[in-house]
Amino acid sequence: MKRRRLLLLIPLLLFLAILVASLYGRRSREYASDQFLMDTLISIKVYGRDPKVLKSAVSAAYAEMHRIAELVDGFPQPGTAAYNSSDVCRINRQAGLQPVRVDPDVIAMLLLAKKYNELSDGAFDVTVGPLMDLWGFGGDSPHIPPPEQIRSALALIGSRDLLLDSRQQTAFLRRRGMKLDLGAIAKGYATEKALQTLKKYGIRKALIDAGGNIRVLGRNQHDTSWSIGIRDPRKPDGIVAILPLEDAAAVTSGDYYRYFEAGGVRYHHILDPRSGYPATGNMTVTAIAADAGLADVFSTLFFVLPPHKAMEAAARLGGVDIFLVTANRRILHTPSLKGRIEILSGGGYHYEQGR
Ligand code: AMP
Ligand code: MG
Repeated sequence: MKRRRLLLLIPLLLFLAILVASLYGRRSREYASDQFLMDTLISIKVYGRDPKVLKSAVSAAYAEMHRIAELVDGFPQPGTAAYNSSDVCRINRQAGLQPVRVDPDVIAMLLLAKKYNELSDGAFDVTVGPLMDLWGFGGDSPHIPPPEQIRSALALIGSRDLLLDSRQQTAFLRRRGMKLDLGAIAKGYATEKALQTLKKYGIRKALIDAGGNIRVLGRNQHDTSWSIGIRDPRKPDGIVAILPLEDAAAVTSGDYYRYFEAGGVRYHHILDPRSGYPATGNMTVTAIAADAGLADVFSTLFFVLPPHKAMEAAARLGGVDIFLVTANRRILHTPSLKGRIEILSGGGYHYEQGR
């Protein structure tokens, strides 16, 4: 009798085992990977059921980022394959000579750049190349250039002389010596392309962190908002605020990424193309927008503007929220972040918003 009961139990146990195994198989898993690219560590985390799909999605996303990185690379070695595959290099070499046929993604970036150059009265300008070279922020020994050299570099800057033909897919810098630098937009644009690639693989939850450029897809694995820490611009391990983020991008431009000090003054890599000197109004600006490329343009653009102008421009342009720490240690943000963003005390900053 006892034995028969035991035998009856076997199918039940088997059924339970199969049930547990199949539930385990359907469980959402995380797949995370890091790669060094575009001068930063890019990390991608994705969530889903099929580990194979997660892996293929992430490698396709990195491939897309590599492709964009090559197109915009400003400093490949002459004679290498990268030298010819960089559209930005080709446009720069043909400055003042002739239009160059480029990849549709380069046209898309340049159209975006031109639009926001106009909307920012020149604060955002991807033709800032000659000035960046002069300050040497791309190399190992940045330094303060002599004023007359700054004046000559300024004469070569102006997106009005960047001519784009989207039908022919060509770009042309009208004057010799002009030079594109897509440092303010390429990483965000590439991040967005990577995220759209993940989506094509059916991924619905993901986080891409490209050195200060964050893009999240959907909600996190606990089905709540992702929490993004905004770095304290004066404490490498400190955080000034925590930002909830869903299906959007948060991109930060800061004066702490690349800088040197001289005579007690900090000189950093985000230049005001009107003055020729590093922008002085802010220490850090985070732009939150639906698209990472756009958020990257915004973070640099609002960084260059004086804080009160940045707040006004953000309200006027719409589709973007900003959080910033001004050079005189004030914290400001757009009204719709109120009640959502958590400002941490202890950094010695003065919180002006939200009272
Ligand atoms: P980001 O970290 O996105 O603010 O980009 C900074 C990079 O953008 C710099 O390293 C330069 O390559 C480039 N850049 C600097 N100043 C400007 C500017 N005013 N407008 C557009 N690009 C800029
Ligand atoms: Mg930017």
